[in-house]
Amino acid sequence: MGTSPRFKRILIKISGEALAGEGELGIDTNKTFSLAGQIKEVHDLGLEVAVVVGGGNMIRGETLAKSGMDRATADYMGMLGTIMNGLALQDACEKQGMFTRVLSAIEMKSVAEPYIRRRAVRHLEKNRVIIFAGGTGNPYFTTDTTASLRAVEVGCEVILKATKVDGVYTADPKKDPSAKRYLQVSFMESIKHRLKVMDSTALSLCMDNNMPIIVFDIFKAGNLRKLIDGEPIGTLISNSEEVILDGR
Ligand code: UDP
Repeated sequence: MGTSPRFKRILIKISGEALAGEGELGIDTNKTFSLAGQIKEVHDLGLEVAVVVGGGNMIRGETLAKSGMDRATADYMGMLGTIMNGLALQDACEKQGMFTRVLSAIEMKSVAEPYIRRRAVRHLEKNRVIIFAGGTGNPYFTTDTTASLRAVEVGCEVILKATKVDGVYTADPKKDPSAKRYLQVSFMESIKHRLKVMDSTALSLCMDNNMPIIVFDIFKAGNLRKLIDGEPIGTLISNSEEVILDGR
């Protein structure tokens, strides 16, 4: 109470599955609305909020490529999917009273602003929630890499990677009952042990630019706000070599 939030400018990475309906496909308006509610809770604290939306609930380029489609074409389709998600999230955010802009890496002027870095920064300064859509605009990348790139570009202090698990584990807890959650782990360890966090392109961009990531469970209501309040939620990945495991 009365203390200022621990960050001023954050980037939240939301996977397509967080917006998805049954079977992890399509868009569930209730889920999208409650997601926007969590964003509002932290935006109301005075934080500048940027969001990168994924598109896994629509199309994953890699999956289509495995079944015979040209990879680059499939990836462009995947990027288009992220724009649909961006518009859905924008709608849900605006219905809760936030001012927003969808900034697309693929020009589509009648539905979203083109991404221009300096304009994005200006929107943040004016307290608009910005939603980055269209990925990086390039095939063979992911929206995790988009999150790393945009966070560095617009000067965010941290990436909050919203997932359905409560952090990063030493092994898959479903397969290995002795798996422990990291409270803190380095980028290097995450890459070396191929921990299921983000792809290595995204991780190395963060490592090289000293951009910390916190992986947390967005499906628990109120978690985002708690994280901002400084509660020990999720796993912090940074350049610190100190590894801390959850002792519970
Ligand atoms: N994609 C791409 N370039 C990018 C970002 C995304 O080609 O810079 C494509 C890629 O095919 C990917 C799809 O868009 O599979 C959806 O993004 P992603 O898989 O990262 O979504 P998420 O897993 O976060 O829902």
